[in-house]
Amino acid sequence: MDDIISLCKRRGFIYQGSEIYGGLAGTWDYGPLGVALKRNVINAWWKFFVESRDDMYGVDAAILMNPKTWVASGHTATFTDPLVECKECKGRFRADKVNTEGNCPVCGKKAWGEIRQFNMMFTTHVGPVDDESSVAYLRPETAQGIFTNYRNVIDSCYPDLPFGIAQVGKAFRNEISPRDFVFRSREFEQMEIEYFVDPKTWEENFAKLLNDIQEFLSQMGLKKDMIHDLEVPENDRAHYSKRTIDIEFDFPIGRGELLGLAYRTDFDLKNIARESGKNMEYRPKDGSTPFVPHVIEPSFGVERLIMAILTTAYTDDEIDGEKRSYLKLPEHLAPVKYLVSPLLKNKPELVKRAQEVHDKLKSRGESVMWDDSGNIGKRYRKADEIGTPHAIVVDFATLEDDTVTVRDRDTTEQVRVKIDELVK
Ligand code: ATP
Repeated sequence: MDDIISLCKRRGFIYQGSEIYGGLAGTWDYGPLGVALKRNVINAWWKFFVESRDDMYGVDAAILMNPKTWVASGHTATFTDPLVECKECKGRFRADKVNTEGNCPVCGKKAWGEIRQFNMMFTTHVGPVDDESSVAYLRPETAQGIFTNYRNVIDSCYPDLPFGIAQVGKAFRNEISPRDFVFRSREFEQMEIEYFVDPKTWEENFAKLLNDIQEFLSQMGLKKDMIHDLEVPENDRAHYSKRTIDIEFDFPIGRGELLGLAYRTDFDLKNIARESGKNMEYRPKDGSTPFVPHVIEPSFGVERLIMAILTTAYTDDEIDGEKRSYLKLPEHLAPVKYLVSPLLKNKPELVKRAQEVHDKLKSRGESVMWDDSGNIGKRYRKADEIGTPHAIVVDFATLEDDTVTVRDRDTTEQVRVKIDELVK
């Protein structure tokens, strides 16, 4: 984990949030390469689950929502974690994650206060007056922005059942102890789908979505033997859920939840109908009796997926007796696809030709990095370290026959390729 965290910081993937002011616990900032990686992950998800299908509809709801949303969803009453404080050192812990029979893990004393329930929603105020009636919350999940638009999507798009509504966006949870790099943050991003089905068909739709999730994770480069489906037993499930699978991953910090797949019955739509007074029934196009659909929810965390991708991609090997660490990222996720380099920095004819190759690839919309610093071996290592699949070098032969060397990140093999073929 330490190697990955240090690589992320050194090369501009992920920095600590507000680092310049001493940081803000549980927040992280993405640097230039991190933004590119995150966009590639989100775009791949959107393409896979939304654009390539006929049964999915996208929305992008506001983060601030009417507080009734969180009453209906149950978050106001029950979105809590048990909090316990050490009266000696004032350290705060999740009571279910610390042994309150033993001593405080920070100061070593045994002076536990009472366990109380702590609501994890961040509060803010809408408008200029800070009173009870202006309270709003930063959304703790994107799902409610989907449910509250269910009626709108039906009325504007007339989808056939089953259909899903998808959303990607920020979520905020005032976690008692954020930790393990981006795994448990206070501000993070989710990719969620509410898939609406006829209750008679929930089992087959659940199985299909589970299959889709597995296929998607394999496209992210994750290895099957590091992914585990945990069938959540009834007494650990939310009371309304008839089946939940937590998909766990072997992170360097141990096995942990990567995403969840939950059959939520008609719990959410029924609550919204009650709280809003609006009808949540679906009217089948064949004229049969309207009913409130049931819902199956795949819920992905972007940060945890990125952590799983980096964990899988991080590789140590030895090239010609020299150790190297590199990211074996799938090409479609790599933040930089091509390194372009002139063999020698002080030969204007090589630099000019390399610049042309660089510009052509850029104008084709590729993500390209220019590097003419140090020696060529060092440039390769730097490009490998951030997962660049192809390194192109313009050398003296280029001036003769218009070919360049293209080096493969994983095998380090080099082939000569015509420039025209590379940029066509
Ligand atoms: P955990 O048990 O780890 O707290 P959860 O069961 O509360 O997670 P869900 O409410 O099911 O999580 O949220 C769906 C997904 O959102 C999780 O699978 C995870 O990928 C992501 N997620 C939830 N909380 C966080 C967090 N604090 N930081 C980063 N990602 C998170």
